[in-house]
Formats: sequence, structure tokens, C-alpha cells
Amino acid sequence: MFRRLPVALLLLSLYPSTRLPAQDFRAQALRILKTVPLIDGHNDIPDAIRVRGGLDSVDFAVLQPKLMSDIPKLRAGGVGAQFWAAYVPVTTMDSGPHPAVYALEQIDLIKRLCAKYPRDLAMAYRAADVERNFTAGKISCLIGIEGGHAIENSLGALRMFAALGVRYITLTHWRSLSWATASTDTARRGLSPFGRDVVHEMNRLGIVVDLSHVNDATMSDALHTTRAPLMFSHSSARALTGHARDVPDSILKLMPANGGIVMVNFNPGFVSEAVRVYEDSMEARARALRAAGRDAAVVTDSLRVWAARAPKATLAQVADHIDHIRAVAGVDHVGLGSDFDGITEVPVGLEDVSKFPDLIAELLRRGWSETDVRKVAGLNVLRVLRATEQVAAKR
Ligand SMILES: [Zn+2]
Repeated sequence: MFRRLPVALLLLSLYPSTRLPAQDFRAQALRILKTVPLIDGHNDIPDAIRVRGGLDSVDFAVLQPKLMSDIPKLRAGGVGAQFWAAYVPVTTMDSGPHPAVYALEQIDLIKRLCAKYPRDLAMAYRAADVERNFTAGKISCLIGIEGGHAIENSLGALRMFAALGVRYITLTHWRSLSWATASTDTARRGLSPFGRDVVHEMNRLGIVVDLSHVNDATMSDALHTTRAPLMFSHSSARALTGHARDVPDSILKLMPANGGIVMVNFNPGFVSEAVRVYEDSMEARARALRAAGRDAAVVTDSLRVWAARAPKATLAQVADHIDHIRAVAGVDHVGLGSDFDGITEVPVGLEDVSKFPDLIAELLRRGWSETDVRKVAGLNVLRVLRATEQVAAKR
């Protein structure tokens, strides 16, 4: 029998799929991404464009070497849809434009960015829009507000953000609110009664509750409050990297019952324990310099020198986080949330949005099935969007 095997089959049995050259997995990844929209949970290009002087200062249609995202790179990366972050700095809570105004300006920028490049980009407000745009060969632009301070404690403002097409709101950024607690806060409280009202109203409006940046108590409270699936738009696994921004296994285990998704962040300090420890020590040394009265320029210079010596995170480590979330929460509850253009350092091999196929190729190399790869690339988050729309429609 053995001698009768066709030569090709014989070769395949000698060289199982894990031994095929990486190039073949990349080709397979690109082929898959032609059949399913890759949907990234978090990209900070709106604020990156804003700080460069606005839309007129950046030509998004040509390669921008200093940005991690532009249309040519999105195309090379097979990106089908992007949640653009309407990021609102917490400092707006103290001075400058009001948080709600800042959020409105970010939403305006996202819509004008999308309208400026109609051959490549199209707005999406529902799961069906993403699918329609994908069929038409366009990259969907979805809006997520980063920082619940944007609503300025007003359910009316929340309803108006929904009317503008906002599809997720990250409940906090780095600073706690009166109704939700940030991951970096030492306080152990979670959602206040008003925070629960916000979650219920988001459910009613069809806005996904995003738990990236909140502390564990807020994650837990939101999971017990929501009537719709939740998301972590850009967070990795804390069992692998002990960062407060990452999701602990105790919460990952609750994702199947909730139906939500954890979209893995590529930030080196969130995916590599060595980088996290190094960054912690850098911050401690910077604090010591400030405490010793050294001036700001010295601290900045020192930070630059230390950062250049930092260990590097890798694409494989990002894949490790995806594997871990699959193992603990299940393959239906993991996605991609790069944080490109919001992070200053990148993993080796995942330098910008053009590199998504390399990550998909790594999963294929590790033996992931095409079915499972399609889920992590986009089908899981499409399911979350659709389920959120259904909960909103019922109320
Ligand atoms: Zn963030």
C-alpha cells in the first residue's frame, strides 16, 4: 500500500504542515483575509493625525514612514475594518476643551478621514455595513470612544454619541471616573450605581461596553450588569504578562457565558514580561531622578537612553497571548486589538498594520485551523457587534 501512495502525498507525510516554509503560511493568510474581514479593535490614527496638524497635514493615501497606519499599509495588511479610537485625553478633565468636545472633534476627524478617501474607506455602523463594505473592496471605519469621561456624566450625551455612530466606549482611560475605576488605580471599587446605568443605557443603544483600561472590580461589575456581550478592544493576557492593563484568567473564564471578546494588544509592555519589568524599573529610576531634583531635560534624556536598551517583544509573544486566551476563554472569544499609532514601541515582526498577515501566518504555523483563524481575524467581533445590535433592538 505504501508504495502506491502518490508522490505528493508521500512528501506531505514526510513534511507535515508545521514544516512548510513561513512564506507559504503568509500566502495562506493573505488568501484567508480575502474571504473574511480582518477587524482590528483599536488604532489611534485619529489622534496621531490631530497632533500632526489635522487631515490636511497627512496624506493617508501614500506611505507614511513615521506612522504605523496609512492606506497602502492597511491594504498590504489585508485589513477589512478598523475601530478608529476617538481618544480623549484625561487631561481634558482638568483644562482645555471639554472631554465631550474633544470626543466630537475626534469623531468629526474619523468621518472626514473616511470621506476623504472614498475609494478605500467607508463608514460602518453595523455588522452588516462591515460585510457590505468588505464585498465592495473597502476598509470599514468604525468609531470607538476611548474614555467614558467623554460623556461628562450625561446619559443625554451618551445617547447623542450613539446617534453619531459610536459603536464602543472604553469606560475609562488611565484615570478613574466617579462611576468607573481605571486599571492603574489602587482603589478597589468598581462601577457605581450611575456606572451601572451607563452600562444599561449602552446596551439599550447598541454601544459595546469596552473594558480595556478598567480595573478588575469594574470588569467584574460590568460582566454582572450587562445584557450584551462585552469587549476588551485592546488588552492582552495577564497570566503571561503581569500588567494591570491585561485581562486576568478569572475574567477570561467568564467570557464564554457573556459571549464577548478579548482583542489582543501588541504593546510590548503588555505582551512581554521582560519588557514590562524593564519599563517598571525605568519608571522607578525616572521617579528617583525627579525626587532628587534633576531637571526635566535630564530625566527625558535618561529615559531615551534606557528605552534604547530595552528588551524587545516579538510577534511570537503576541501569538502566545492569542493562544492563551483561546485556551482559557475559548476560540470564540479572542480577537486583535493592535493599538497601532497609540503605542510608541512595537514587537519585532509586528511593526505596523501591514504585518497582520504575518501574525495570522504564525497561528497557521502553530496548527490553527482556517476556521479558527477566521474567527480571531474578524468573525468573533462581528458576532459581538451583531449580538449587541440584537439586544438593542429588543429594548
Ligand atoms: Zn488605550
